[in-house]
Amino acid sequence: MDENVYKNPEASLENNRAFCRECGHQILITTVTCSKCRATQVTGGKEKVIAALLAIFLGNFGIHRFYLGQWWGVFYLLFFWTLIPGIISLIEGFVFLCTSQETWTRKYSRTKGSSALVLVLVLFFAVVPVLGILAAIAVPAYQQYKENAEQHQIEAKKKNMESEPQLQDFQP
Ligand SMILES: [Zn+2]
Repeated sequence: MDENVYKNPEASLENNRAFCRECGHQILITTVTCSKCRATQVTGGKEKVIAALLAIFLGNFGIHRFYLGQWWGVFYLLFFWTLIPGIISLIEGFVFLCTSQETWTRKYSRTKGSSALVLVLVLFFAVVPVLGILAAIAVPAYQQYKENAEQHQIEAKKKNMESEPQLQDFQP
């Protein structure tokens, strides 16, 4: 068999290339130590698609900026109520998607994002609307149930009152 096939499957893929942060030597994204200068690479590269999806769906709150380890996502969060960050991030999302993998890797593969913070924010902004929707369905349903129950009670009372004179009629 041709041993080259098994030697390094990623070697032929330009997409998996990055530059050493110390010497600029081209290395694989997954490389932890540069083969040329032995510098330790910061791992935890950010996925383009994830960043784009965060920008498109939760960009109004700057989640994609936090994901990319950019603190100015705070400004998105501060002005979310104007919906302007949402418009900006929607465009950013598509720009992310249109960015070539090579450029993306060079820009973001070495950024350190606070994943825990992103997770908390994503959960918060995902859970809050769901709870809101559930409340919007559950509260009127409960009120309807209560009204029905009250209606039943009133009807039951009415029946009792109607039947009372009849009972008296039969009394000797
Ligand atoms: Zn290097």
